[in-house]
Amino acid sequence: MKRRLFFLVSFVAFVCASSYVVWGFYAHREINRLAVFTMPSELAGFYKRNQIYVSTHAVDPDKRRYAASLEGPRHYIDMERFGDGTVDALPLEFWEFHDKFTGLYCITQTDSLEVSYDDGKINVGSKSAELKTYDYEKWYQKNIFKSYRYELDTLQAALPQQVRAEFDPCIRFSVFDTMMQHGVLPYHMVDMQRYLTSAFKKGDVKRILQLSAEMGHYIGDATVPLHTTTNYNGQETGQRGIHAFWESRIPELFAEADFDVLVGKASYIVDKPAFFKDLIRTSHERVDSVLLIEADLRRKLPEAEQECYEERLGRIVRVPCTAFTRAYYNRLDGMVEDRFRLAIKSVGSSWYTAWVDAGRPAMEGDLAVTVEAKDTTFTRRDGLNGRGH
Ligand SMILES: [Zn+2]
Repeated sequence: MKRRLFFLVSFVAFVCASSYVVWGFYAHREINRLAVFTMPSELAGFYKRNQIYVSTHAVDPDKRRYAASLEGPRHYIDMERFGDGTVDALPLEFWEFHDKFTGLYCITQTDSLEVSYDDGKINVGSKSAELKTYDYEKWYQKNIFKSYRYELDTLQAALPQQVRAEFDPCIRFSVFDTMMQHGVLPYHMVDMQRYLTSAFKKGDVKRILQLSAEMGHYIGDATVPLHTTTNYNGQETGQRGIHAFWESRIPELFAEADFDVLVGKASYIVDKPAFFKDLIRTSHERVDSVLLIEADLRRKLPEAEQECYEERLGRIVRVPCTAFTRAYYNRLDGMVEDRFRLAIKSVGSSWYTAWVDAGRPAMEGDLAVTVEAKDTTFTRRDGLNGRGH
């Protein structure tokens, strides 16, 4: 029940905040388009033939956010909500993260008992019993973690068979989720990497391209500082709108003329979880600068020089003035460009790594296909991001 309510609330919240949630549509498409140039010769032809496809579909995950409740949390992680707020406090595996940040209750005929595990013991209510770590982990992964994938808040399952006799029988389990509200981005990137590798192994061109495009999206999100904090739109510090200011307005005004987008060749990612967590770590380290510099500029510049009116898609909309945006961009001292470059290189490296891990299939014959890109662009109600965000 609780989770359903959360999804309903978050759905409304996402719709309301829809202009502030990601690298602008423009930037996401550019990142994927430019990642194609990082491909080694064996893959370059394939991705060049399908460059329009991977670029166009870079924004698909954002479009899905409004339709699929699992989708939203994949785009961010509120680092402040987990452990001491550092990436090192995040467990290695997705299921461990789930285990750590969801509450589990055994529902008996008469009671609801909290289930926990530590130090070789499983605790159900006030009773405990010995259980090997390996057995607990296997049980949790198989029986409880699936609640995430199937979006369940109650599960039909039994306690691990080694300890079942020690406790009242559980009729079902209840899962109280604190993980989904605060985002799962680093773990989702690891999952996506695995899906992409398997698509290469199967030689499923359509799926390789769709997953490449979507992987590019999530990696792009991970390189944006404001995707790693509870204060994602400056709403906690009176800086509402800063999300789109940083990730849409700046790239739209300056990327084409100012950014150096030659990032070299993709590299092989040896340790995937560590690589994706590093994107989050380096993003989160920049949150303070993103916020403090903007606040400082807003204090120093007259208000009339901050907000301007522009025509977009036949409507007059309020946007940060060009000169004000440039001032912010300059004070950030290359940060937006650096994150943009990191995104391009990381996306290329993810594609390349999936292909290597799939055994370097020759991209000929069935794999030499060009898939037509159907542009699914839609317009939003909010004028500022009429072509997306
Ligand atoms: Zn996103």
